[in-house]
Amino acid sequence: MLEDNYKQRGLRNKLVKKLREKGIKDEAVLAAIGKVPRHVFFDEALLNHAYEDKAFPIGEGQTISQPFTVAFQTEKLEIKSGDKVLEIGTGSGYQACILLELGATLYTIEYNRKLYETVRTFLPQMGYKPFFLHGDGSKGIPAKAPFDKIIVTAGAPVVPAALTDQLAEGGILVIPVGDREKQLMLRIRKKNGKLVREEFDYFAFVPLLGEQGWKG
Ligand code: SAH
Repeated sequence: MLEDNYKQRGLRNKLVKKLREKGIKDEAVLAAIGKVPRHVFFDEALLNHAYEDKAFPIGEGQTISQPFTVAFQTEKLEIKSGDKVLEIGTGSGYQACILLELGATLYTIEYNRKLYETVRTFLPQMGYKPFFLHGDGSKGIPAKAPFDKIIVTAGAPVVPAALTDQLAEGGILVIPVGDREKQLMLRIRKKNGKLVREEFDYFAFVPLLGEQGWKG
């Protein structure tokens, strides 16, 4: 269902309004949410829910993040056009589209082989072309580092050292860290080689797996 009609656009505008009311201020982020069709990621049966501010299942036990969460993490990343960005947890690819709309040069890595295969065919059909990688993103991508921005879209038990190591000077890592049920959103900035950490609200993500993540 790649069609995007006036009804879908209307629902998207309403979603943008809701996100503004919930505290998202960055107009570029809101414009990206207003532009990227979200309904195309949904199964026929769930189509009516595409523009609700909720997370939804995308198969393989994974989810498409809640729009507020996508907007919140993206706003905290302070994306500038041309930034080299690493996304860990491609999932449906929705967050990747938002980052690309903001002008990021995007590397996105997914652990689940099936989701990776699906997304790397689907996103280019929509006109979105990040670099797709399959593997354990908890180790980052040393061969492509450093990154201006790193976003982790799964809940981590700790801040993986590999990720802060792969941040460029002045770079920003946004990552939810906590237990399996809830995680605190952290922003870590590399300033003169030192790490400066800010804490925001609690969120509930699916677990980050892999070497620096949860086991199984
Ligand atoms: N950004 C996604 C949300 C994905 S949910 C979206 O916009 O839809 C989190 C994703 O992280 C899942 O697809 C899961 O398979 C993936 N994941 C979990 N651990 C990972 C790891 N170590 N490396 C890469 N991806 C991982």
